[in-house]
Amino acid sequence: MSAQQERIVATAVVPLDFTYNYRVGQYVERYIKGLGQKKIMGVKCPGDASVIVPPRKYCGRCNEIMNEWVEVGPEGTIENFTIAHVNLNKGVVEKADTEYIVALVKLDGATSLLPAKVLGVSPVDVEVGMRVKAVFKDPVEDSLEDLSHFEPAG
Ligand SMILES: [Zn+2]
Repeated sequence: MSAQQERIVATAVVPLDFTYNYRVGQYVERYIKGLGQKKIMGVKCPGDASVIVPPRKYCGRCNEIMNEWVEVGPEGTIENFTIAHVNLNKGVVEKADTEYIVALVKLDGATSLLPAKVLGVSPVDVEVGMRVKAVFKDPVEDSLEDLSHFEPAG
């Protein structure tokens, strides 16, 4: 191929917008079924006793297969947070109507941190160590969105 031929590149823009369904796997399926009963389920590692939420098959620290299911929460503690000003909508970043809190929540009984939206407290009042509780959709729909958000506990 000559140098001139290499510079000729044909491109086409093909806008795609479709729903893509894939199997999330048995661990996330069981997690979603738990949410549908307003329960937050994690798995416990037989090697180091880590409790991971959302559940996954292998422990990231010791590579053991985790198959002991445990219920965690529904309350937990904010370990860290940020104030979000944008939404991610189908891969597109859009300005949010109002700022909101996204926190890393350590659920009671869990080792891992769950990223979640926190409502019911203003961004100037939220703090690390704040106790929060899960709020589920009502009615639930057997989906990941059943765990709607967290709000201050008590
Ligand atoms: Zn482990």
